[in-house]
Amino acid sequence: MHFEDYTPLFQAQVLALADRISGKGYFPNPSEISKGPNAYMVVCLSDDDELIGFAHGTVLPKNTLASFLENRVTDIPDDLRKADAEGAIGVIQTVGVLPEYRGERIGSKLLTIVHDKLVGLGGDKLIATFKRGPGSTKIEGVMERMGFTFWTRQDSYWREQCDKGEFLCTQRTDKCNCQALFFRKAVY
Ligand SMILES: [Zn+2]
Repeated sequence: MHFEDYTPLFQAQVLALADRISGKGYFPNPSEISKGPNAYMVVCLSDDDELIGFAHGTVLPKNTLASFLENRVTDIPDDLRKADAEGAIGVIQTVGVLPEYRGERIGSKLLTIVHDKLVGLGGDKLIATFKRGPGSTKIEGVMERMGFTFWTRQDSYWREQCDKGEFLCTQRTDKCNCQALFFRKAVY
């Protein structure tokens, strides 16, 4: 397998993979979100050039952390507030790997690539967000190895959108039961 920077050539494959993992309609247009000097996306391809994973992140513009968190997280620590005012918060927003390739550390390689890129783009405090359904794999160990600590968990983060049918959660039962997990790390 190998890793490449995202280009629009991968758009359809990234969307199909995201639909399968995070729920249909959850993930916006990958070419849109990977635009701009502070955004970055990497893909992982099999030896047959099948897309088997991707991850993306961005360095947030100044004073946009609260809105990035959709104003749902109220206990923002001081060091994050300060970094937010400086435009130095890097966020790893999504990582996805095909279920049949899990356990091969592809996810942690993708995370590491995005992590290093965000640091290079001026990310001083990093946040990683995960949408996790009841059957999802554990991410805590990978994040700890990368120096992240658990920050907060939001049980109802997606519920409103999910209930409105804005995306189709893969593991939805009669209600939305996926969580948002947030990890954080100080680079310097
Ligand atoms: Zn849901």
